[in-house]
Amino acid sequence: STVGTCDKTHQSPYSGSRRNCSKASPYIVQPTIDTRRVMRGLVNNGLVCATNSVLQCLYATQEYRDTLSHEKYNTNNGTVPGELHRLFRALANQTSDSACDSMPCVIALVTCMYATPQVGVMDDADTVFKCSLVALADAGDPACKELSELWMIKKKEKFTCSQCKTERVMNTVASDITVNPTQEPLTCLQEYMNTYSESYTVTDCYCNVCKRDTELSVVTTFVELPRLLCVKIARVRTSTRDKSVTVYRNTANVRFAARLCCNNLLANAQYELYAVVLHTGDPVTGHYSAIVKSDQTWMYVSDSFVRPMGMHFSFDKIGTTAYMVLYRRTPQ
Ligand SMILES: [Zn+2]
Repeated sequence: STVGTCDKTHQSPYSGSRRNCSKASPYIVQPTIDTRRVMRGLVNNGLVCATNSVLQCLYATQEYRDTLSHEKYNTNNGTVPGELHRLFRALANQTSDSACDSMPCVIALVTCMYATPQVGVMDDADTVFKCSLVALADAGDPACKELSELWMIKKKEKFTCSQCKTERVMNTVASDITVNPTQEPLTCLQEYMNTYSESYTVTDCYCNVCKRDTELSVVTTFVELPRLLCVKIARVRTSTRDKSVTVYRNTANVRFAARLCCNNLLANAQYELYAVVLHTGDPVTGHYSAIVKSDQTWMYVSDSFVRPMGMHFSFDKIGTTAYMVLYRRTPQ
């Protein structure tokens, strides 16, 4: 067996500074058993492993492939839909097994993310993902807007004043469910979801109705769960003290399985795993990679390195590094 490594010294596209973001991958990957070429990797010319991993997950999402493959997006040069179209077409072209160039997509996304592109910064995969959703929502194209809303979780939050019992209801949306392994022991995602709640109490509030200091109880109900569900395991915590920022990374082993039942949130909400963004190493200089289901085969992709996970692959092996876990709702 071989050990997957990120094969490039990452060079920032903005500053020209070099930083080696990669360590040897901890995943023991089976030698190629299946000689069918089912996936192409993405070139990493500098600190783009987060974007590359998210792009592979978007490509693994059938709806994204179906919609963005349409020829009408071929004209939108430099836009996110246009560059996704060209990248997806390159990834689908299996006459070559060389890695594809993701840089036009990276630049299109970075242009959306920052007013002035940041220098020598590795992006967070979650930021890249959310940015891609915003870019598609704002593209002025109904089909792209639909793609961005495939992840939308609709909630209703009810705020109640503990003194005068006045209620206020607010409709909210989110693009993921964020679980925090530092708040309480989180060892099994399904068990966590079985008791998951976004209801809480806010102390030290002032009520405009009864004009008193009070506590607010917030009860959140899930109104609609999406076709595509992103569960983000918030492993990174930032603490600012004495003007210095410390970044902690939680490496708790979170067991998860190919299926996730969210009936605790809403009836008939069953999901099946299809992609995972992984993060290894420390939060600033670590490395992103992904595991995606491609033609019923689980593939490990780390920039240009692509291998099938092999027959002995189990999700237990990625419990400490899984960062964004992507599920598809199964028919009822
Ligand atoms: Zn009140």
